[in-house]
Amino acid sequence: MAGLFTKARKRLKEAAKHLDIHTEVIEKLRYPKETLAVSLQVRMDDGSRRSFKAWRCRYDDTRGPTKGGIRYHPAVNLDEVMTLAFWMTFKCAVANLPYGGGKGGVAVDAKSLSRTELERLSRAYIQAFSRFIGPDRDIPAPDMYTNGIVMAWMADEYSTIVGAPTPAVITGKPITLGGSLGRDDATGRGGYYVLRHLENELGVSPEKSRVVMQGFGNASFHCARLLHADGFKIIGVSDSRSAIYDPDGMDPLAVMDHKQKSRGLSGAPSNGKLREMTNAELLEQECDVLVPAAMENQIIEENAGNITAPIVLELANGPTTPAADAILRKAGTIVIPDILANAGGVTVSYFEWVQNKAGYYWPLEEVQSKLKAIMDPEARRIWNVKQEKDVDMRTAAYVHALDRIASAVEAHGTKAYFSD
Ligand code: NAD
Repeated sequence: MAGLFTKARKRLKEAAKHLDIHTEVIEKLRYPKETLAVSLQVRMDDGSRRSFKAWRCRYDDTRGPTKGGIRYHPAVNLDEVMTLAFWMTFKCAVANLPYGGGKGGVAVDAKSLSRTELERLSRAYIQAFSRFIGPDRDIPAPDMYTNGIVMAWMADEYSTIVGAPTPAVITGKPITLGGSLGRDDATGRGGYYVLRHLENELGVSPEKSRVVMQGFGNASFHCARLLHADGFKIIGVSDSRSAIYDPDGMDPLAVMDHKQKSRGLSGAPSNGKLREMTNAELLEQECDVLVPAAMENQIIEENAGNITAPIVLELANGPTTPAADAILRKAGTIVIPDILANAGGVTVSYFEWVQNKAGYYWPLEEVQSKLKAIMDPEARRIWNVKQEKDVDMRTAAYVHALDRIASAVEAHGTKAYFSD
C-alpha cells in the first residue's frame, strides 16, 4: 500500500494539471528540502536511559522560513512527518503567509511520561535540532500531544543555547512568554469564518443547519462554541473513548464543563434525547455539516459511502483519504479541505512570530480581525477557483496554493530563462 507521503504528493500533480506552470516547479517540490532524523537520549525518573526516535523536516522554503508543529505520538514516523511538512507548505501558501512548510515529531507515548521526563525530552529535542531550526529558518509550534508548556521549555532551551531570549523561534507559547492573544481558538475560529463566509454557496445557515463534530479538543470545541453562539445546532461530538449524539442539540460549553469534571463525554447534559455511540457511528449520523477534528484517515473508502452530510469541514489534518474523496465527490458532498479549513491556527502562529520580532503585542480584537481578513478572502478565492475550473474544493485549494509557490520558484528563473 502506498504510504501517506506518496498519496499526498499526488495532489501536487493533480493541481499542476490546472495551471500553466513550469515542470521545474514540480521537480523542486518532489522531495523535502532537508530532513534530520535523530535519537533523543533521555534520563528517566527511575535513573534509566531511554532513546526516542525524532525527526524534523523542512519541506520547502522558497516562500520563507519553514513552519510547522511538533507531534508526540507513538506512531509518528518519517513518512508522516514528511507528509505533514508537505501539507504545511501548501497551507502556508493558501493563507499567503511568508513561510514554507515544516514539521517535527517524536515517537513517544507522551501520556506515559512524568512531567519531568516530558520536560527533559522536550529540551533534548531542541538540543538535537538547535542548528536545524531558528527564528528565520524553521519555526516549530504545538501539534498533537504538545502544548504551551512544551513550547515554553523548547523556547527556553533554544534561548539558552544561543545565549539570548529568542521567543520567535517557536509559536504557541504561553501568553506571558510571548504567546499571542487569540492563538487558543484560532484553528476553530478560522474554520468557523470559512463556513460562515461561504454559507450561501454551501447552503448552510444557523437556523437550519445541524453539525456533527468528531473530536472535542482544541480545534473542534472552539468551532462548536462559535457556531452554537450563532444558532447552529451541535448534535454530536466525540472523543477518543466515545461519541454522544442528541438530535435536539447540545450546548458545547456545558458539554466541555462536564468533560473536564468527569474526564469523559458520557452522561453529558442534554435536552433529553442524548445517545451514546461509537465514533464510527457518529460520522454516519444525518447532519448538515460534518467536522472531522480528531486525526488522519477517518473518512475512508469503507465508510465514505455512508456519510450523509452534504458539507465536510476538515479541521483535522488529512481526515479524508483520496479514495474516500473520490466517493464523496461523486455523491456531490463538498469537502472544505484541511489546508483551508484549519489554516487559522498557523495564521495566528504567524501573528505571534510577527509580534515577537517586533516586540509589540496586539489586542485580541486586532488578532481576530486580522485573522478574518485572511480567512474570508482566501476562502472566496478558492471557491472562485473551484467554480472557474470546475473542480472540487480540495483541488481548488491546491491549485490556489501551487500558483503562489510556483510564482516564487519561477522568479529564480527556469530553463526557459537560462537557455534563452
Ligand atoms: P486535541 O488533542 O486538542 O483534540 C483532539 C480530539 O480528538 C480530542 O477530543 C481527542 O479525544 C479526540 N480524539 C483522539 N483520537 C480520536 C479518535 N480515534 N476518534 C475520535 N476522537 C479522537 O487536538 P487539536 O489541537 O484539536 O487537533 C485536532 C486535529 O486538528 C489534528 O488533526 C490536528 O493536526 C489538527 N489541527 C490542529 C490545530 C491547532 O491549532 N490545534 C491546527 C491545525 C490542525
